[in-house]
Amino acid sequence: MSMTGQVQIKKGQYKIKGDFHHLEFGEPIRMADENWRLAGITNPRQLTHIHSYGGEAIFFENLSKGKLMATRCDNKKCETKGSIYQPFRIHCPDCLGKNTVIDMTDIAKKTAKIHTFMVCERSGAFNLLDKPIKFINIEFDGVCTILFSYLAIGEPKMGMSVVPIFQKLDPTYTILDMAWVPKGTKENQLPKGFSF
Ligand SMILES: [Zn+2]
Repeated sequence: MSMTGQVQIKKGQYKIKGDFHHLEFGEPIRMADENWRLAGITNPRQLTHIHSYGGEAIFFENLSKGKLMATRCDNKKCETKGSIYQPFRIHCPDCLGKNTVIDMTDIAKKTAKIHTFMVCERSGAFNLLDKPIKFINIEFDGVCTILFSYLAIGEPKMGMSVVPIFQKLDPTYTILDMAWVPKGTKENQLPKGFSF
């Protein structure tokens, strides 16, 4: 029995176990108009990529706990000291110093508004969201950047107040663990696994 690749970091080193690649035989590719002459084969490949989150790991860890983390430049010598970044920026774009991680869950719950939005009837490959997807740009009081996410319930409107919801029941440790709903949405209306 093979096992999907598992990774741990121990004493500063990656420790891996299980299968990180999986070889299987493909299928012939045949010419339908030429007496099914052989033209080639398919090569199925499945691999497990080890994707390090580095300094952003704390952002994804906290989504699974219902918290939205941002960063802030606290460098006294920086012209833009005090700027808060959401999405999470590890380094300040102005002084390149390392930012301080802050919890902005309360700011998001109280001040998030739709800055603009777009509704997409079609998606790209590997989309996991229900269509149409209501992509929203979200602004927050005191935050100098705008967050790109999606509205899970209802119809977006310019300036609409929204609140974050989090996949705490069965987290994926990806950005899919967070979505937004109009302020006033009831807990029992939320998608499966999500809560405030
Ligand atoms: Zn700075």
